[in-house]
Amino acid sequence: MKALILDIQREDWDRTQGMTFTDVDAPVLEESKTPEDSSKVIIKPLYTGFCGSDKSLWFRHAFKETLFDSLESSGQSYRICGHELLGEIMETGSYASRYYGYRSGDIVSTESHIFCGKCHQCKIGDAHVCSDHKIIGISTDGCFADYVKLPARELWKTDVDLIRPEVAAIQEPFGNAVHACSRVDLRGKTLAIFGCGTIGLLSILAARAMGAALIIGVDPNRDNLELAEKLGVDLTIQVEKPTDPEKSFLPDIDIARVIREKCFGEGVDVSMEMAGSNQALNTAVAATRAGGDIILFGLSAGDYTLTNFQEIILYGKSLHSVIGRKVFQTWYTLSNLLMSKGHDLQTKIYEIILNKGEGTIVPFHSFERERFEKSIQEHPKIIFKY
Ligand SMILES: [Zn+2]
Ligand SMILES: [Zn+2]
Repeated sequence: MKALILDIQREDWDRTQGMTFTDVDAPVLEESKTPEDSSKVIIKPLYTGFCGSDKSLWFRHAFKETLFDSLESSGQSYRICGHELLGEIMETGSYASRYYGYRSGDIVSTESHIFCGKCHQCKIGDAHVCSDHKIIGISTDGCFADYVKLPARELWKTDVDLIRPEVAAIQEPFGNAVHACSRVDLRGKTLAIFGCGTIGLLSILAARAMGAALIIGVDPNRDNLELAEKLGVDLTIQVEKPTDPEKSFLPDIDIARVIREKCFGEGVDVSMEMAGSNQALNTAVAATRAGGDIILFGLSAGDYTLTNFQEIILYGKSLHSVIGRKVFQTWYTLSNLLMSKGHDLQTKIYEIILNKGEGTIVPFHSFERERFEKSIQEHPKIIFKY
């Protein structure tokens, strides 16, 4: 079968970028040899989304250790990438059909973090922070392929008569946004989103649908802010990227002041840091009112400097981190939001974030490395169509 892979034997991590479109063996269900296969299914992808984490793999920015460790422990030289999926079940293991009720022909999406089910967090319903989780497409083979084998327990049945397939393929990243917007109550609140990339843009939609009254989008990139405006933010602010690396962590005081002025001179109720920027974090803290909440989603390796730390304590500001999606609470909420006629989120996602499919929906089987690299740099989200 065809697959988009990262082959660490053929491609030196530090000296290459990109992924390879090539032939690999298709996955099979062999319960007699591998008993775990009874709880798995074989899925034929219909649409898949290219995630920010896939972009990190493409440019070798992150996940090196996770990828190398998982390949070593399974004795494999390549990883099939991809985890944002809409696909059709082709074959089910005996347990997958008997216990989970899956049948060939079912259309499903998938939670991308495979949880262990045995650790403390899994046992108390916090599987999104499982101690022993695997990430599809990084620590186990993913869905940029003609077929993918996945555990039935992770799947999310999707009705494509109610959710259009191009949007259904990105339920997983939309779930990140919904999870971030569920961390604190947003009803009637003012919100500033620092970082209007894919998840920031999706968060604008989720936050509005979940009751946020005033939404401010902050980003260095004019194109991102234009998309944010089209999605209906109340105010956009373009931030200048810090030029002095020694001071790159310092908050942008002017931006914090503009935001405070907009909210009774006190600051927003809630800030979301979705850029993975130390500057954005400190600006977010400065722009949030006393007693407000700061949601942390943006990822960045290494150390951060928190300026004016005492402000957080003295003014009772709370920091909350968000990873993945609550399984499956977030999936129920995101489905309800997507299917709600009142918010028309599917149209906004398709027409604005996916640019009506123009340049954003690319045929998987005519993958072309250079052209694809351009696409992922030009659009917030790229979808493969199979
Ligand atoms: Zn993703
Ligand atoms: Zn666990």
